[in-house]
Amino acid sequence: MDRRKRFMQLIFGVLFLISMASGHHGQSLTAESEIPVLCYHNIKKQAAKITTYTISADNFESHIRELSQSGYKTVMPDDVLLHLSGKKILPPKSVMISFDDTRTEHFHIAAPILEKYGFRGVFFIMTVSIGKPGYMTGEEIQKLFKAGHAVELHTYDHQDMRKLQGRDWEIQVDKASRTIENITGKKPLYLAYPFGAWDENVAGQVRTRGIKGAFQLTGKRHPNYKEYSIRRLLVPGQWNAARMMKEMRLIFKT
Ligand SMILES: [Zn+2]
Repeated sequence: MDRRKRFMQLIFGVLFLISMASGHHGQSLTAESEIPVLCYHNIKKQAAKITTYTISADNFESHIRELSQSGYKTVMPDDVLLHLSGKKILPPKSVMISFDDTRTEHFHIAAPILEKYGFRGVFFIMTVSIGKPGYMTGEEIQKLFKAGHAVELHTYDHQDMRKLQGRDWEIQVDKASRTIENITGKKPLYLAYPFGAWDENVAGQVRTRGIKGAFQLTGKRHPNYKEYSIRRLLVPGQWNAARMMKEMRLIFKT
């Protein structure tokens, strides 16, 4: 009986060591691990003009399908922030998929593709363009929100926030936030800096105005402004799914 007990102890000991070791090989995330955040702009049915900012609908779907088949699940900005603060550690295959500039195809093409794979996206709205030709209407933005996507802020009219002064801040952040709140019923708590451009003053301003977290592009993260320098990978339209996965893993070390 004694020998059997000792044998069982040994087995549990070995299992414990294996689980510890796997933890150091990327099987679990820590608050220090960056959650991959992807950033898309224009999505076109016709693949005529593929650029950094324009991807074909078919290629976009191939990216989403690849993420899904690789076991990824989409997360929202709240999750990313909780992860950063160590309050909720996200599963290893978490990804946030974001869309900038209010394009009409975000509603007509991106959202249906995301939903087909059980994914939800984060839409950063530039409020000046709401309802203009080529851009989403308030009703479309509301539908995205009701379908479980996040609707957040991309300022009023897309200026370099490092150059804002005085009343500009009210127009670009406070008023634009109210425009979004009037559509969704929820005050946006996250912002994507236009052009990914920010500095410490910008981070301080948006924090004062109630923004809980802000997204740049792949610039350096700031140790004192971790929540205001969350990185995103701009996915060029020329990348196929394999290239996107490779770059994502490289940049976010997943
Ligand atoms: Zn933009």
